[in-house]
Amino acid sequence: MDFSLSKQDQLFLQMIREFAEKEVKPLAAEVDESERFPMETVQKMAKLGIMGIPFPVEFGGAGGNNILYTMAVEELSRVCATTGVIVSAHTSLCCAPIMEHGTPEQKAKYLPKLTSGEWIGAFGLTEPNAGTDASAQQTFAVKEGDHYVLNGSKIFITNAGYAHVYIIMAMTDKSKGTKGISAFIVEKDFPGFSIGKKEKKMGIRGSATCELIMENCIVPAENLLGQEGKGFGIAMKTLDGGRIGIASQALGIAQGAMDETVKYVKERKQFGKSLGQFQNTQFQLADLQTKVEAARLLVRQAAYKKDQKVPYSTDAAMAKLFAAETAMEVTTKAVQFHGGYGYTREYPVERMMRDAKITEIYEGTSEVQRMVIAANLLK
Ligand SMILES: Cc1cc2nc3c(=O)[nH]c(=O)nc-3n(C[C@H](O)[C@H](O)[C@H](O)COP(=O)(O)OP(=O)(O)OC[C@H]3O[C@@H](n4cnc5c(N)ncnc54)[C@H](O)[C@@H]3O)c2cc1C
Repeated sequence: MDFSLSKQDQLFLQMIREFAEKEVKPLAAEVDESERFPMETVQKMAKLGIMGIPFPVEFGGAGGNNILYTMAVEELSRVCATTGVIVSAHTSLCCAPIMEHGTPEQKAKYLPKLTSGEWIGAFGLTEPNAGTDASAQQTFAVKEGDHYVLNGSKIFITNAGYAHVYIIMAMTDKSKGTKGISAFIVEKDFPGFSIGKKEKKMGIRGSATCELIMENCIVPAENLLGQEGKGFGIAMKTLDGGRIGIASQALGIAQGAMDETVKYVKERKQFGKSLGQFQNTQFQLADLQTKVEAARLLVRQAAYKKDQKVPYSTDAAMAKLFAAETAMEVTTKAVQFHGGYGYTREYPVERMMRDAKITEIYEGTSEVQRMVIAANLLK
C-alpha cells in the first residue's frame, strides 16, 4: 500500500493549503453568517484546477487521483466546510458519474466544462418520500420520441441554483422497482426545470440546498446516463465515491477544530497555568488527535482502493461513518475547551460543530453506513 504523492501533486496540495489559508479562511465566518454561496471562491478554485482534481487532463481535469482529491477537500474543509462540500458534491456526485457511465459524446460535451469549473454540478436523488429509502422514487420519466418528459421534485439538493448540470434519478418503469430507475443529465435551462425552496440550515450555511421542480421537463433522449433501468446502480456507485468526499470533509472539519483548540489551550490561562498544562486537556487532546489520524487513514485507504479500481464500497462507508462521528466528537469537545468563548461566534469552533453534524446525515446517514458495513460482514 502506498499513499504517497508525486512531487507535482505535493506542489498542487501545497498551493491548495495556501489558497485555503489566504482566500477561504478569511471568508468562512461571513459566508456562514450571511448564508452566502461563495461564488468568487468557486471561480478562483476553477482557475487553480480544484474543480476537477481526479479527472484526466484530456477531459479538462487536473490529472490527479482520488487520494489527492481527499487531501484537497480536507484542506478546504479545515477552514470552511461550505467550500469543502461545494467541491465534493460537484466532483463526486456530478463529474464522476458522467466520467464513469457517460457515452463518449456525453463526456466530450459535459466533462471539460465541469472539470474546469466553468460549470458547477449537482446530484438529485432525494425526494420528500425517498430519503434513506432511495428506491421509493416518485419522479417519473416518460419517453416520447426523441426525448423524455420528467415530472416530480427533489429536495435537499446541494449546489442547486448555482449548478448548470444535475444528475437526476427518475422512474422509467415503476413495475420493475429499483430496476425501473434511470439516470439523466439535466441542464438548468431545459424547459420545465426550476429551482424551488432554499433550506435554512444549522450548518454549511454558505452551501445552497434547494428543492428541484420538474414540470413536464424535456430531456433529450441522448441525455439518458447509462442504460434505462440502471439508474439505481449508478446512484449507489456514485454515493460510494461521494462518501469518500464527505469523509474528507468531516476529516477536515475535525482537524480544523483540533488546530483551533491546540492554539487556544496554549494561550488561555486559568489558575496561573495555560489550559494545555492540565493533564485532562493533554489526555483528551491526545485521544482526539489519534481518532482524527485513524479517520485520515480510513479515508486515504478508501481513496486508494478507488484509484486502484478494486471494490471500495465498505471502505467508503467505514471512512464516512468514522470520520463523521469523529468530527462531531472533536468539534463538541473543541467548544468545551474554549469554555464560554467557544459558545460565541467570535471563535470558529461553534461553526465547526454545526457543520460537523451534517456529515453524519447526508450521502447516507451513519445508520446507512452501518447497514452497508454489516451487510458485507454477514454476507
Ligand atoms: C444539507 C443537505 C444536503 C443534501 N444534499 C443532497 C444532494 O445533493 N443530493 C441528494 O440527492 N440528497 C441530498 N441530501 C439528502 C440526504 O442525503 C438525506 O437527507 C439523507 O439521506 C437522509 O434522508 P431523510 O432526510 O429522508 O431521512 P429519513 O430517511 O427519513 O431518516 C430519518 C432517520 O431514520 C433513520 N432510518 C431510516 N431508515 C432506517 C432503517 N431502515 N434502519 C435504521 N434507521 C433508519 C435514518 O438513519 C435517520 O436517522 C442532503 C440533505 C441535507 C440536509
